Amino acid sequence: MRICRYDETKIGIVRDGMVHDVGDLSGRLGVHGYPLPEHDLLIARLDALRCEMEGAVLSGGIPASAVRLESPVGNPGKIVAAPVNYTRHFDEAAADPTTFPKVHVRSIRESGLFLKATSSVVGAASGVPLRFADRRTDHEVELAVVIGRRCSVVPESEAMSVVAGYCIGLDMTIRGTEERSFRKSPDGYTVLGPWLVTPDELGDPSALDMTLEVNGRVRQRANTRDLILGIPQLISLASAFFTLHPGDVILTGTPEGVGEVVAGDVITATIEGIGTLETRVRAP
Ligand code: MN
Repeated sequence: MRICRYDETKIGIVRDGMVHDVGDLSGRLGVHGYPLPEHDLLIARLDALRCEMEGAVLSGGIPASAVRLESPVGNPGKIVAAPVNYTRHFDEAAADPTTFPKVHVRSIRESGLFLKATSSVVGAASGVPLRFADRRTDHEVELAVVIGRRCSVVPESEAMSVVAGYCIGLDMTIRGTEERSFRKSPDGYTVLGPWLVTPDELGDPSALDMTLEVNGRVRQRANTRDLILGIPQLISLASAFFTLHPGDVILTGTPEGVGEVVAGDVITATIEGIGTLETRVRAP
């Protein structure tokens, strides 16, 4: 199943490039008072609502290109991200100490994971507003894993069972000396989309081709088989340090080919089995 959020508040199922409205689910997401739970209400109820959502898809639909695609996760509790998790990206970073300060170029086994502000999350339709005119902002395409159930200290052998689905993530990054979480958390610097693909629909996520183009020219081309820490290892590592909740997102790291974007650029990211996310870079 492919689930999208679109036109601000709507939820849809995507089939053959067409978005089908599943109707108003707000009454079925549980009754909550203040404070709200730490998880995403829709992702937490996905299994229970699945039949109902699929049943709502009978005919019609709108081309996905004609809707405003929002982040497939509306309220992620946290964005966990992997630094340098492809060997060739490590090599390109190590070779350019001016752009990639040495302090940041370390093995993921040494540096662990980092967190991005949830306020940085947008969908493809929002575009990326550059935060500073005078600093370099780079694209990073990544496979994004969305957690489906509350879990802690998950062994690698059970890790795939906590996954709700996958989407494409753009981990937009200001280059510089500051902490990653600071440089990668401006508003709009985490683009998720175009939709969530459930594990049964995607199949094996450990060998997916991915590309990122800027204005039609390929910048990044890689395969998830080259991840240093694979998805089970990342889930196990993250959950060893904190509880993961439905809707938490793990950005698995970017391959080689990162580079600068400027206002007006169109970023087109494709991951095999998921689809294509297109978004535009905007002036500060
Ligand atoms: Mn990244």
